[in-house]
Amino acid sequence: MLRIYSFFVALFLTTLLTAQVQSPSEFLGYEIGTQFSRHSDVVRYFEHVAKNSDLVTYQEYGKTNERRPLTYAVITTSANHSNLENIRKANLEQTGIATGNSGTADKAIVWLSYNVHGNEASSTEASMVTLYELITSKKEWLKDAVIIMDPCVNPDGRDRYANWFNQVASTPYDPAQVAAEHDEPWPGGRPNHYLFDLNRDWAWASQVESQQRLKVYNKWMPHVHVDFHEQGINNPYYFAPAAEPYHEIITDWQMDFQTQIGANHARYFDKEGWLFFTRESFDLLYPSYGDTYPTFMGAIGMTYEQAGHGRAGLGIHTDRGYELTLVDRVAHHKTTGLSTVEISVKNAAKLNSEFKAYFNNNNLKYKSYVLSGNVDNLKALADLMDKHEINYGFASNGKATGFNYTSNGQGSMSYDTAMVISTDQPKGKMVKALFEPDAKLSTPLTYDITAWNLPHAYGLNAVASTSLVRANAASPFKTNITTASTNVAGYIGKWNSLDDAQFLAGLLKEGIRVRFSEQPFVNNGVSYERGSLIITKSDNLGREDFNEVLSTLSRKHNRTLTATTTSFASSGPDFGSSQVKLINPPKIALLKGDATSSLSYGATWYFFEQTLQYPVTSINADKLGRVNLDEFDVLVMPSGWYGSVLNESNLDKVKDFVRGGGKVIALANAVGSLAGKSGFSIKRNTGGSDTEKSDKKENLTPYADRENASTTNFITGSIFKTKVDTTHPMAFGYPDTYYSLKLGSNSYSYLDRGYNVAWIPEEVENVAGFAGETAKGKLSNSLIFGEERMGRGSVIYMVDDPLFRAFWHNGKLFFTNAIFLTNNGKFRL
Ligand SMILES: [Zn+2]
Repeated sequence: MLRIYSFFVALFLTTLLTAQVQSPSEFLGYEIGTQFSRHSDVVRYFEHVAKNSDLVTYQEYGKTNERRPLTYAVITTSANHSNLENIRKANLEQTGIATGNSGTADKAIVWLSYNVHGNEASSTEASMVTLYELITSKKEWLKDAVIIMDPCVNPDGRDRYANWFNQVASTPYDPAQVAAEHDEPWPGGRPNHYLFDLNRDWAWASQVESQQRLKVYNKWMPHVHVDFHEQGINNPYYFAPAAEPYHEIITDWQMDFQTQIGANHARYFDKEGWLFFTRESFDLLYPSYGDTYPTFMGAIGMTYEQAGHGRAGLGIHTDRGYELTLVDRVAHHKTTGLSTVEISVKNAAKLNSEFKAYFNNNNLKYKSYVLSGNVDNLKALADLMDKHEINYGFASNGKATGFNYTSNGQGSMSYDTAMVISTDQPKGKMVKALFEPDAKLSTPLTYDITAWNLPHAYGLNAVASTSLVRANAASPFKTNITTASTNVAGYIGKWNSLDDAQFLAGLLKEGIRVRFSEQPFVNNGVSYERGSLIITKSDNLGREDFNEVLSTLSRKHNRTLTATTTSFASSGPDFGSSQVKLINPPKIALLKGDATSSLSYGATWYFFEQTLQYPVTSINADKLGRVNLDEFDVLVMPSGWYGSVLNESNLDKVKDFVRGGGKVIALANAVGSLAGKSGFSIKRNTGGSDTEKSDKKENLTPYADRENASTTNFITGSIFKTKVDTTHPMAFGYPDTYYSLKLGSNSYSYLDRGYNVAWIPEEVENVAGFAGETAKGKLSNSLIFGEERMGRGSVIYMVDDPLFRAFWHNGKLFFTNAIFLTNNGKFRL
């Protein structure tokens, strides 16, 4: 009797407990899919579930730029929850990332990432219903699985979309394609606050969302990772297996399990009569996506794409004759999410054994990547390695032999101090993906850039060695200290890196007057290169806190300033020379809006605000006619399409601004908007003698081969060697060679009137990545960076945008030089 009584009490309690967990619809008060839920409501729902279910824990892992919480839930049985730390450690131990004996790794660790692109908004809705099903009807799966669910990777972007839609949508929603609720305004909800595409940022981790997510990711190292997306409204659902090209480090098992997962989804889709496709469009090469990054970290990394996107709203008529609704989109994403967990649980043991095997890196060709050069650039690279928890060390006074990145062939490199990153560590395959000289492509038709190698991105000399290089020297990263002295004529600082530029920006913001030398000079027996900063007492006479500000800022930026008692140079210009120019603290305007690429505007905005930490005023490009440009010294035009903005009167206005001493900096496609305009000498390179020939050949190309044949005109993010005029202020701090990341095939002639600062010479050297033959031919004798004087001012052309995705570290000083050092010696009248 007692036993029966206890049974009923237990049953009653269980029912009570389950009853307390409401479904998302019960909790939020509307059927999921009939509204777009705001991020705060999604967070409230996850909190509700975690509070009322012992199967779920939920925590914040960071905040976005707009202070929204970044969160993740862990879903597994309560027994597993009590043992969670051991499960986590056992998984890291089997890879060699951690040492210890925390038990057998036998749980499938599945990570589901929703809504990295904010306006692909069905997936966050799907996360709530998926969570509810996992803890109710599917809870028998949880015994063998730990599921990590990030309901919204990009809350700022998603709320931008959801709030906009909620404001403009009709009630009931209007499915007509022309309705305003299907026409999202610039910049759209896809990117994050700084308009970065977070699905291109995993490897570079420039954004706070990525940086904070990687910390949790590295703690867990899941076996399966799904990134939920949306695509055009007419497309069937897309799921694994992925398209070619694959990166060569991807194992047979990773491909095979993608196929098994795809087959499991197909069962459900076929049963419901839902269309899908696989193996097209979404490849696995560029290492910075939510599918490739986890793949290169040993997981089965996948992208799932539902039709929808910023156009679809709550429902829209498709061109295929049916209405696509949010309810359907949610159902599809829920189905693939659950099916992924199901098949992973069935294969939990195999997932673990294959995951473990992935981390054996004995077969990699290159054993060590050895890098030397500017210490600030090495430090920046070390910071990136830290974000991925990739190990590195240092070697001193040696010589490494192997593939030499500078000569682009076999060679050697001697060094005093070098950073060594070896592949004999658990994350060795990711090291290979990031550093290898040239990724092998099975087809050039990729979704993204085809080259990213970090030695060039960080402006370092490097050798890839097939034998292991020992690293046991002490770190060369030192704390620099400036000793302020009262009896000085001034201080001298070097100009070699972005860190120096950040220091200068800090000084200018504090109102310190700074000069730079256009010529090399020797002071007190020490040689200084062009661009060296000179801060004189006489320029800052009124500042009683002069020494204090300098030492505070040099400590903050870890810079050394050398005090000197004399402004007399034993060689080169003295401090009072006209070749030692005072730097005007420039007031900067940056164009934004429809005419600009949101990615380029965002990257530039981010650079000023977060990297340089120097004030910038963003101006809507369509208001250019009404803006008083006299309030500014510099006008930055991000990449864009300025056809309608640059009408005759606005062009005159811009030219007057420049003639009066202003400076225009045009990035990427903005250069094209100025090409051929009266008063601007920039011209498109139409060259490429074999263009016509190849066009003719293409006419005989069979229909089925056309797509591949057209690649002769492509450049898909590829690295080129350029020559640099090191005497021009825009190039100060650089050697005479620079490796530029070229994103497209646009090509411009050398400037007849003006300075060619960096250029591709007659012989085109494409050191990594794909470039079609026709496109490559056109790059011969083409401009990369240049300055044209106009009246008292300048127009700066930057054909390749060094701020792209914030990852081409070594290009950023060119941009900063254009701002602070180029034709900036005189103050505007
Ligand atoms: Zn997407």
